[in-house]
Amino acid sequence: MKTRLFTIAALLLIVLGTTVWEGESRSKKFLVVLDAGHGGWDSGAKGYYGTLEKNINLSIARWVWILSQMDPEIEIVLTRDDDRYIELRDRTGLANKLNADLYVSIHSNAHPRSNFTNGVEVLVADSPDHPMYGQNVTLAKLLQKRISQKIGANDRGIHQQMLYIRWAQMPAVLIESGFVSNPLEELKLRNPSYQLAIAQTTLDTIRDFLEKNRRAN
Ligand SMILES: [Zn+2]
Repeated sequence: MKTRLFTIAALLLIVLGTTVWEGESRSKKFLVVLDAGHGGWDSGAKGYYGTLEKNINLSIARWVWILSQMDPEIEIVLTRDDDRYIELRDRTGLANKLNADLYVSIHSNAHPRSNFTNGVEVLVADSPDHPMYGQNVTLAKLLQKRISQKIGANDRGIHQQMLYIRWAQMPAVLIESGFVSNPLEELKLRNPSYQLAIAQTTLDTIRDFLEKNRRAN
């Protein structure tokens, strides 16, 4: 029943979004490219109960997009809105082509050996010599803190990794929203209200970051 309510709410928002706000998107202040990690043949991590990471990522990304339809400032462009694989180059390539203000990739985590490991991580591309490093770290810390607090998850901190998101020519982060390899967290990640809470916090934090950044520039 809960799921059905969310589906109805989502459909309503899509209809509202396309009728009321159509044509106004170009006038929005900020453009964010949002990536649902993996897709198609690439399922990503596989959960204890068989949940595929690609589907969780897509659900959260769709929620952010739906919420953004009511946001006067932020336009969200998804790298994929269905179950297909897109080359990593093309994901950041889209953000570069659109001259986006921000690139955010949504993933879920898995631990190769432990079913107990749980919590939220936000990843930034490799090293301090990256031109966006300072902004990436600021945004990552903000997302990390707010998302883990909002959903009551373990705060695992931000991490630096060699990641394809370094190809983005704007601030870019990768959110690991939880561990599908942990049965308890896997079930939470499948819950639409949990996904919605992650999505809402992501959108709110992105907005705060972009507004502050704009004032600083
Ligand atoms: Zn992933």
